[in-house]
Amino acid sequence: MSAVATLDDLTSTSHSSRIVIIGGGITGLSTAFYLERMAKTQGVAVTCTLIERSDRLGGKILTEKIDQHGGFLIEGGPDSFVAQKPWGVELVHDLGLSDQLMMPNREQQKVYVLLKGKLCAMPDGLQLIVPTKILPFALSPMISPLGKLRMAMDLFIPPKRDGADETLAEFMRRRLGNEALDRIGEPLLSGIHSSAAERQSLLATFPRFRTMEEKYGSLTRGMLAMRRQRKQSQGKPQAATSPFVSLRGGIEELVQALKTQVQCDVLTGCGVTALVHTPDNAEAAYHITLDNRETLQADAVVVTTPSYITADLVEKFQPALAEGLRRIRYVSTATVSLAYRHSDVGEPLKGFGLVIPRTERRRINACTMTSRKFAHRAPDDHALVRVFVGGSRTPEMMQRDDAEMLNIVREELRSMLKIDADPIFSRIYRWPDAQPQYDVGHLDHMTQLAALCPAGFYLSGSAYHGVGIPDCVKQGKDAAAQAIAHIQERFPVSI
Ligand SMILES: Cc1cc2nc3c(=O)[nH]c(=O)nc-3n(C[C@H](O)[C@H](O)[C@H](O)COP(=O)(O)OP(=O)(O)OC[C@H]3O[C@@H](n4cnc5c(N)ncnc54)[C@H](O)[C@@H]3O)c2cc1C
Repeated sequence: MSAVATLDDLTSTSHSSRIVIIGGGITGLSTAFYLERMAKTQGVAVTCTLIERSDRLGGKILTEKIDQHGGFLIEGGPDSFVAQKPWGVELVHDLGLSDQLMMPNREQQKVYVLLKGKLCAMPDGLQLIVPTKILPFALSPMISPLGKLRMAMDLFIPPKRDGADETLAEFMRRRLGNEALDRIGEPLLSGIHSSAAERQSLLATFPRFRTMEEKYGSLTRGMLAMRRQRKQSQGKPQAATSPFVSLRGGIEELVQALKTQVQCDVLTGCGVTALVHTPDNAEAAYHITLDNRETLQADAVVVTTPSYITADLVEKFQPALAEGLRRIRYVSTATVSLAYRHSDVGEPLKGFGLVIPRTERRRINACTMTSRKFAHRAPDDHALVRVFVGGSRTPEMMQRDDAEMLNIVREELRSMLKIDADPIFSRIYRWPDAQPQYDVGHLDHMTQLAALCPAGFYLSGSAYHGVGIPDCVKQGKDAAAQAIAHIQERFPVSI
């Protein structure tokens, strides 16, 4: 097995440097894609190898197409990504997939929250956790009159200016009160991260709330200012107006396009078992051992595997880094998708989905009406529902076998949404130890880890600087740029 020279036509350098990327999820693939582009534009000769232990690329990105009953498209992992963080949409354009980009259905964007067993629509104008329209919020039964008064105190509570991290729960309680935390913040914001608001770092997961507080003195004033700015910039392309985007053929289209366009040597079905760092070796600074006992040499490595796996790989040459990596907690989750005939279920929810506060003590965390949220997901006359279980909220669900898990999900859907019919089919996707948790202090921890990385060694991926697809793409791009800069420093161009 040998790495293929991707830029062997370049003559400006005498040395073709080797970069190995470990892990073929979206972070590893983005690293390879941008590495090749950057090397080409900067005239750096580099050979690149990407190593993925599983037989398929994509990691947590998994789209399944089911031809039965007219064709369904099911996402086992991510089903969309944030458009405001530009790197995901940029990758779509860079891959030539712009015509595949799609937004959620505009007219059905309502989200419901379960309160005392009943469905309650989030009021119009609620921007994440902050009401920006007075009347719909005042009339909404979601928060009690006292709770609303407490939320209004946000206008008068002085901002925290010491720069210190706090949990999402502490922040919400401080600014908006307990009820807003239990009924809006915890189900909406911790749900996204499958995490516990009482441990989740504000600065690592929602830093803009702190920025808003510091800049405008209150969240409400900050949200209103942002709404005014958005109104002023109306007329810009529509993609910017939708918070989430997806791809017509599913998120895995990204992976398929990367697979086709990345030219480096891609090894699948073969993992990395050990890494050795030999900084004084003029031949190669890194030696990488594979499952099949072959070894590769590299001048730089970008490691995108889950942090507990990376810890095992670096244990021998950097035990302090291994110890730090193991301190990043992960939780296990699953998604359960169920397909129905419309005639069997009617219209259980007039919106995108339902979030469920922890205080409701349910066995599922949230559900999305996938076929309402996005076009091209289910044939006409059918409905597709996706349920989230596990995480920090319902970890016991992960101990259930598939039949038990499905039964519980169906019981919960029956009780909350009156869906009684048998699904025409269902799919369960399990993600053991898959979602890293950004506990309070995460950013400081990341600074400490970065300081422990030797030259030419880069940590990248969902454990570090953002779990969303755009964050992972950015981290891949940044790691590519750093690896190239390292190569240029180590092997200056000799003309
Ligand atoms: C259920 C679920 C829903 C989600 N929903 C969304 C969403 O809607 N929007 C969004 O933006 N994000 C979402 N996310 C988060 C997002 O999907 C992930 O954070 C992102 O895909 C992680 O990409 P990655 O490349 O960093 O890691 P991974 O996808 O975990 O890739 C790491 C790769 O390393 C490989 N590997 C492991 N060990 C080795 C080894 N020893 N040698 C070689 N290779 C190895 C693994 O097989 C894997 O392919 C969701 C995640 C989950 C689990």
